Amino acid sequence: MAQVQRMSRSMVKTLRDDPADAETLSHKLLVRAGYVRRNSAGIWTWLPLGKKVLDNISRVVREEMDAIGAQEVLLPALLPKEPYEASGRWEEYGDLLFRLKDRKGGEYLLGPTHEEIFTLLVKDQASSYKDLPVMLYQIQTKYRDEARPRSGVLRGREFQMKDSYSFDTTDEGLAESYALHRAAYQKIFARLGLDYRIVSAVSGAMGGSASEEFLAPAVAGEDTFADCPACDYAANTEAVTFALAPVTAEHGPVEELDTPDTPTIETLARHLGVPASATLKNLLVKVDGEIVAVGVPGDREVDLGKLGEHLAPAVVELVTAEDFEGRDDLVRGYVGPQGLEKVRYIADPRVAPGTAWVTGANKADTHAKNVVAGRDFEVDDYLDVVVVEEGDPCPSCGAGLKLDRAIEIGHIFQLGRKYADTFQLDVLGQQGKPVRVTMGSYGIGVSRAVAALAEQTADEQGLCWPKEIAPADVHVVAAGKALQTELALDVSEKLGAAGVRVLVDDRAGVSPGVKFTDAELIGVPKILVAGRRSAEGVLELKDRRTGEREELTVDEAIARLT
Ligand code: ATP
Ligand code: MG
Ligand code: MG
Ligand code: MG
Repeated sequence: MAQVQRMSRSMVKTLRDDPADAETLSHKLLVRAGYVRRNSAGIWTWLPLGKKVLDNISRVVREEMDAIGAQEVLLPALLPKEPYEASGRWEEYGDLLFRLKDRKGGEYLLGPTHEEIFTLLVKDQASSYKDLPVMLYQIQTKYRDEARPRSGVLRGREFQMKDSYSFDTTDEGLAESYALHRAAYQKIFARLGLDYRIVSAVSGAMGGSASEEFLAPAVAGEDTFADCPACDYAANTEAVTFALAPVTAEHGPVEELDTPDTPTIETLARHLGVPASATLKNLLVKVDGEIVAVGVPGDREVDLGKLGEHLAPAVVELVTAEDFEGRDDLVRGYVGPQGLEKVRYIADPRVAPGTAWVTGANKADTHAKNVVAGRDFEVDDYLDVVVVEEGDPCPSCGAGLKLDRAIEIGHIFQLGRKYADTFQLDVLGQQGKPVRVTMGSYGIGVSRAVAALAEQTADEQGLCWPKEIAPADVHVVAAGKALQTELALDVSEKLGAAGVRVLVDDRAGVSPGVKFTDAELIGVPKILVAGRRSAEGVLELKDRRTGEREELTVDEAIARLT
């Protein structure tokens, strides 16, 4: 017995107009079709239809995580500051963290991701190598105070993530846990009906080594990736953000500039008096004639925006692609065989040992100044810049690369021992000596996947869900008066009894035209109409995607839909 949801009695309300602030297709459609409703910036209510889609995605994720032997847990979202202070992320995350205090003045945060807390959990629970390997996951609400929470549920400040963590005693074990997750993610995204690419990526604030992203190509995406049309090479151009020379506290006194708010590439563009969209392609920033930072269009929050803000109003000037010409000595774009993060180090002749320098820092939202070349970093490592243009040769086969926009739907990391070192996570090894644990962490944007699917599957009429994810299997429309409604309810009940999930539009006083439009907008895969031939017990079955129609009796319809 599956649910029969009657529109006359449920909170399924469509809107005629797009929400004024909506930029992306999924944002417009999910709001108009009554799936989600905005509470405040980046914070959303899931209405009945939206909740069903969200739950369907969670179910697929859960089934595939269970299938690789991961165990589901649920950790708190409200977390004490100390573990994040120990890992350095209380600082590193900067404005991205929601921070709060309890009545005694104790400091807390709302979890943006849970490496620290899982490490502590396993430290508490596991004592021997026999307790490992272990893989744990949760589907939970995460909090990040994103600078630009636009695009609806694509980028929320509160959002649903599946995050999992693996704990192994050996590097081979970690590689295996990583491979299991990678394979599970492939199954998940295939079942969700998402078109996706796996690209090599950078670890960013997570730390650690190997890392890959699952990207769903879509115009609404905020990531840019280089894709080879001739072979399977693909890499995220976000790597460029992290390609600037690493500067850490270990390297000597590094002063961080304040960032009062989070300036963006748009701010820089405004400062430079150029349109953000057009001109910020392959951009170098020169300060007093010296190149200090570089960015590409997909990275809309690259450090250089922040840098520009701080160095305003004096010295920032824009350099375009022509500045590269004939300047191989200066900066050269290079895509390495391992992806964009493995770029060639370029020695800049202008950076002599002992020179004070301004550079990108490896902390979010900060820049370091008074960094001294030769003391704080190897001079040869100084500028590590990637400039990828459409048509650049693919590093693995030489064909011209394509640049595409995409939505990051998943991200897997081999963290290694970073967090285990911080929290001294050891277990007793086979030899009776303590062994340091090695970890992986793996995320899927569950609520983001709703929007990504909407982006990829919608058409001019509205949403158009794959069957496994749709909020119902069939949308029954009573297109007429009492007779039609009676037939619609009758067939709905029979379908429900046969295990088919039904949404039935039995609203009185709503014209068939409006009901048809709503059915297209809501996007359930099959639409069953009780219309003109209801007296004969004949219905029309329409396929939402192909538009194909056929006339069927009630029994035939039930046979077809079960
Ligand atoms: P992005 O680059 O889009 O900001 P991220 O790299 O910061 O994402 P991760 O820390 O890798 O995100 O988190 C794992 C997954 O959680 C991401 O791959 C993405 O699908 C999802 N996610 C991250 N931030 C958000 C958000 N603000 N809203 C919805 N989903 C998100
Ligand atoms: Mg992010
Ligand atoms: Mg990312
Ligand atoms: Mg990521």
